[in-house]
Amino acid sequence: MIEHRYPNLVPKAELPSGQRLVGALDFRRLPKVLLHEHLDGGLRPESVIELAKEAGYGELPTSDAGELAAWFHRGAQRGSLPEYLEGFAHTIAVMQTKEGLERVAYEFIEDMAADGVMYAEVRFAPVFHTDGGLSEDEVVEAVIEGLERGAGAHGVEWGLIICAMRNRTDSLEAAELAIRWRERGVVGFDLAGEEAGFPPKKHLAAFQAIHRANFAITIHAGEAFGLESIWQALQWCGAHRLGHGTRLMDDIEVNDDGSLTLGRLSQYILDRRIPLEMCLLSNVHTGACARVEEHPFPLFHAAGFRVFLNTDDRLMSDTEMSKELAVATEAFGLSLLDLERLAVNALKSAFAPHEKRVNLIHRRLLPGFATLFAELTARSFAGEFEGP
Ligand SMILES: [Zn+2]
Repeated sequence: MIEHRYPNLVPKAELPSGQRLVGALDFRRLPKVLLHEHLDGGLRPESVIELAKEAGYGELPTSDAGELAAWFHRGAQRGSLPEYLEGFAHTIAVMQTKEGLERVAYEFIEDMAADGVMYAEVRFAPVFHTDGGLSEDEVVEAVIEGLERGAGAHGVEWGLIICAMRNRTDSLEAAELAIRWRERGVVGFDLAGEEAGFPPKKHLAAFQAIHRANFAITIHAGEAFGLESIWQALQWCGAHRLGHGTRLMDDIEVNDDGSLTLGRLSQYILDRRIPLEMCLLSNVHTGACARVEEHPFPLFHAAGFRVFLNTDDRLMSDTEMSKELAVATEAFGLSLLDLERLAVNALKSAFAPHEKRVNLIHRRLLPGFATLFAELTARSFAGEFEGP
């Protein structure tokens, strides 16, 4: 009551933001949500080497984990999506057995726990993992077993997304596979791979099968290719979320006074609350934008789009959620309130059932942020953040 009647008598805490927030807070402690990460893009380099040995795969450029990580990262930042995707030949090659797939999935959850992620959706294309004689159903089962074992050990909630590939013709089979495994933790369907020359509307049968099953769709769109790709993903294929959506900026004009003029497509995406799974560092590596500082993410965020941040490929892009959030906080001057809003946006957009999302938001995410707010406020009153 007193706060309302005498607002000037209540001292206001000055909480740090931007670079000062990065300096003041261990970002691993932030409660996090990750919805866009590729299982075959996030392996530990040590595991790639060990699995390659077990499989007799001799194509790796080095057997030193540090050198291998650097090699993947170098290969991935040549500024083109097709070149970025080359490294996946090696990770996919070592994910061809039940044991290998189960291990990679288990370690994914373990890495999420270490990074402070409470809910993660991970995606992959099972069709690439049948060279060792497994069926696609066996591939999915092995991954689910690894995710379940990881969740049991580390308390991370998860969902699995099945990817079809834009340059292939078997997307309907991938959609049916996703639907078959929904009772075991598959939460949706994605179309991935090279964008230019492979329009999503070529895969209508797959998307219609997903819609008829009352299931969920996300589509990689507007990463390496423009508005047409985003528009098709939404209005032809009925996507519920967009992977990246970076080029949506082509539909937005920044006026001299800093205000924005939205085109019809971006206005639709804003009004319909279509989630944009943004990935800053991977966008720089694939050349979707030149530098993090030039990324349109802060404009989307300020304009109220349903945006949130993701890692895309932790191994290829040498990243994790703590790093993506710290990079964004530093580059765009984000506050703890911004970070909370991004995490809430992500959980609202997750493909997990509504009740689970609401529970996670109110029982884990917001209480986690409340603890950090209280701690920073106390440190602020103690004078820790005074000065320039
Ligand atoms: Zn992706």
